[in-house]
Amino acid sequence: MTIRFCVACGGSVSHRQPPGDDHERAVCDACGHIHYINPKVVVGAVCAHGDRILLCRRAIEPRRGFWTIPAGFMEVGETPEEGAIREAVEEAGAVIRIEGLLAVYSIKRIDQVQLLYAASLLRPEVEAGFETAEVALVRWSEIPWHDLAFPTVDWVLREACARGLADPPRVPELVDLASGPRR
Ligand SMILES: [Zn+2]
Repeated sequence: MTIRFCVACGGSVSHRQPPGDDHERAVCDACGHIHYINPKVVVGAVCAHGDRILLCRRAIEPRRGFWTIPAGFMEVGETPEEGAIREAVEEAGAVIRIEGLLAVYSIKRIDQVQLLYAASLLRPEVEAGFETAEVALVRWSEIPWHDLAFPTVDWVLREACARGLADPPRVPELVDLASGPRR
C-alpha cells in the first residue's frame, strides 16, 4: 500500500528516510507527520471439546467456502488472548478458555504475524456468525485437510494434533471397589 496523503492533515507526502530511521516512510510535506506501516497481528485458536475440534466454513472472501479456525485481526485495546476469545464468539458463537500458545507464524509476504492458541470450548453449543457459513465439531479423522482455507490453518491443526489436543487419554479401567485392592 502506498500512502499518498497525510492521515493527519490531508497534505501531500514525500517518500523518504527520516533522520535516524532505517526505512523509507511517507512524510507529510505540510505538517511533518511520519506514517509508519507495521505488520498486522492475527489471533486465533484451535478450540477443542472432548475429542472434537471446532471448524468454521468461511462465508466471505478470501477463500469463501473453505474451512478455518476462528481467527482474525487483533484490535487495539485488547491482548492477543482476548482477541482470540472475541473471534471465537464472533465467528462461531463459541465460549472458549485459552489454554496456551500453540504457534507463532510470520508470513513476511503479506506482512502478518499470527498468534494461534490452544483453547477449550466451554460448551458444545456453537453457531455460525456473520463471516461464517457453517460451524462443525469434528474429530481428527474428519478434518477436511484438502479444503482448509489457509496454509497456517493446516500447520496449526497438525501442531495441535501432534501435541495431543482433543485426544483425551483412554478412560482408565475402573477400580472394583467391592472387592477391594488386589495384590
Ligand atoms: Zn500532514
